[in-house]
Amino acid sequence: MLTEPSGTAAPESEGRQGRAGALLIVCAPSGAGKSTLIERLCAEFPRIGFSVSCTTRPRRPHEVHGRDYVFLDEETFLCRRREGFFAETARVHGNWYGTPLGALKDMLAVGRDVLFDIDVQGAAQLRLSIPGGTYVFILPPSMAELERRLRGRGTDAEEAIVRRLANARREIREANWFDAWIVNDDLDAAYDKLRSVYVQATLKPALQPHFALSLLEEEEA
Ligand code: ADP
Ligand code: 5GP
Repeated sequence: MLTEPSGTAAPESEGRQGRAGALLIVCAPSGAGKSTLIERLCAEFPRIGFSVSCTTRPRRPHEVHGRDYVFLDEETFLCRRREGFFAETARVHGNWYGTPLGALKDMLAVGRDVLFDIDVQGAAQLRLSIPGGTYVFILPPSMAELERRLRGRGTDAEEAIVRRLANARREIREANWFDAWIVNDDLDAAYDKLRSVYVQATLKPALQPHFALSLLEEEEA
């Protein structure tokens, strides 16, 4: 378990004002537009490293092993889970998902910000084990629109859509503890809000705890 503040080193190019990496945890009911928004954020801010999860879910045609997920069979996943490989794990829509702890530590060690695309159960586990993250919940404008988007995406069978909608209701009921809610009605407006939350997450004094006092020490020297 990672108990130290989120990250220690910053890239040398950041100089005296270098800061540790920020953690941005983004949750949403499936179909709300989370992947669309996250992709845009990562494209705009190269400092963000995406936490690539492991899953036992079958790969979708457009997905790349190692980029979107590391796809594992259940036996391998559960073996890694027993060995403490994951920062958190959860069973979502009937499959296992987990955040590899080692990759997270590696990204923080080089001062990268880390973005997590995980479910509410996993986010709640991370909040207990890793301090200082910012937790964002993306909401659809209505449940009818959520269903339209899930069907329109065309990636899931009917049974999976029904299961995802049932899980969506459960996740929305559990979303009251998040730091920010963003309603994804107009995509550009939702993106502007996510961008603001990310920028704010990078401004936390805990990410560069000595900076303010270093100004005074510099003056005294
Ligand atoms: P998630 O990652 O939350 O499951 P996706 O990003 O895959 O959701 O989005 C689900 C579908 O909804 C996709 O087809 C996407 O293009 C579409 N979508 C996302 N945001 C909006 C929006 N604001 N308005 C209309 N459609 C959207
Ligand atoms: P999908 O199968 O649509 O890619 O993802 C289904 C759900 O699993 C999404 O809510 C996604 O955020 C979540 N998820 C993806 N990776 C992880 C992970 O490592 N841990 C947890 N707890 N949830 C994850």
